[in-house]
Amino acid sequence: MEFKPIWEKYDKKQLKDLETLCEGYRNFISDCKTERECVDEIVNLAELAGYQELGKLIGGRRKLKAGDKVYSVWMNKSVCMFQIGKKGFSEGMNILGAHIDSPRMDIKSNPLYESDGFALLDTHYYGGIKKYQWVTLPLAIHGVVVKKDGTTVELNIGEDADDPVFFVSDLLIHLAQEQMEKKAAKVIEGEALDLIVGSEPIRVTKEKDEKGKKKKDAKETAKDAIKKGVLDILKKQYDLEEEDFLSAELEVVPAGRAREAGFDRSMILGYGQDDRVCAYTSLKAMIDSPVTDRTVCCILVDKEEIGSVGATGMQSKFFENAVAEAMNLTGEYSELALRRCLAASCMLSSDVSAAVDPGYESCFEKKNASFLGGGMVFNKFTGSRGKSGSNDANAEYIAHIRSVFDKEDIRYQFAELGRVDLGGGGTIAYILALYGMNVIDSGVAVLNMHAPWEATSKADIYETYLGYKAFVKGVSL
Ligand code: MN
Ligand code: MN
Repeated sequence: MEFKPIWEKYDKKQLKDLETLCEGYRNFISDCKTERECVDEIVNLAELAGYQELGKLIGGRRKLKAGDKVYSVWMNKSVCMFQIGKKGFSEGMNILGAHIDSPRMDIKSNPLYESDGFALLDTHYYGGIKKYQWVTLPLAIHGVVVKKDGTTVELNIGEDADDPVFFVSDLLIHLAQEQMEKKAAKVIEGEALDLIVGSEPIRVTKEKDEKGKKKKDAKETAKDAIKKGVLDILKKQYDLEEEDFLSAELEVVPAGRAREAGFDRSMILGYGQDDRVCAYTSLKAMIDSPVTDRTVCCILVDKEEIGSVGATGMQSKFFENAVAEAMNLTGEYSELALRRCLAASCMLSSDVSAAVDPGYESCFEKKNASFLGGGMVFNKFTGSRGKSGSNDANAEYIAHIRSVFDKEDIRYQFAELGRVDLGGGGTIAYILALYGMNVIDSGVAVLNMHAPWEATSKADIYETYLGYKAFVKGVSL
């Protein structure tokens, strides 16, 4: 498809709506940099829109009926929402899905050590990253530490203007002759991504015991004094012990808020847009959609970047269980009715797509590539090298979506992630397709995907939101 910028499609009113949506989005990705932070905010927004927690209705007298809105959170890291349609679950759902985990560095279980005048935290990166992009940047620590007594300490350090930040060092260019000869994959190795978190030794006071004798000499106490200094701060400010890192989920992410980019402010540069750009627009579309015949569902999940595994990844049964519980509350549940509902559902499985990069045009086949500012992206298939691992959407389903989108004048582009033999990527689409439902990969084009700062077009964000609303309202196969 030829690249046609979609900006000129919008009138004044739409441009205003576009800016409002994108400002909300910028705040969302600035404030929510972990799955847990996303789920908290999604629940806030859902409750404001009248959604109730599904779990609270289970076992009660109240039944669900058309127009009711419920949500279900799994382990604070994944969430699904339902807006019950006029025909309940019997004719299937229209499902919007996206993931809310993003590439980053996770802090290891035994992370803290001292070396050469620094206290450092060892990390293990999460998802696919170019490791060399993550050094010498201001970084923040977000996450939770759960103590043995069950209390949870939430950390978010590095975002406020007067917060400290953290960083990973890199070798000065003056001494980098050997390093610069290395391949990019090796130039910064995984074990070298250690976070510098302090450099001031704890002050040693010579304590005396009851008999007035000095307890320890200063030298002995000063061993690992910088590490002890950090532990002292963790104890005083958060009541944490070194062992508490064992039961923590701490994520190291780029510090700072998402920004408008370009003289024309047409883009957004921010961390974690894969895939929070699709998550936020799916959520907004769901909240803003009227009650339709079919039940509308929005799934926002964890762990996509590492294969959708674990209890909070899409492969987990939490979604199927939530549908069963919701059907039970509408009085429609049976094992067979559940299977029929899932098989009759239609889904837009949304994830970011690679925008053509003007610096690397040769990596794309431009007839089948997405452009920043070219509209919502569909991928008939994803996968890599011979479509391996792909969900390949049915022609019949695509034809139906084309007709729905064209009727609403939604601008879209059909694309592949890049040139055929170069690489590829997976999404959650194939997992929902296991139920036999129609699924197609869709989403927003991103430049610098998986880099600390990713870029999107405001027009694509707005158009995708409009596309989701058209899908929810119009698709009925
Ligand atoms: Mn990704
Ligand atoms: Mn993704």
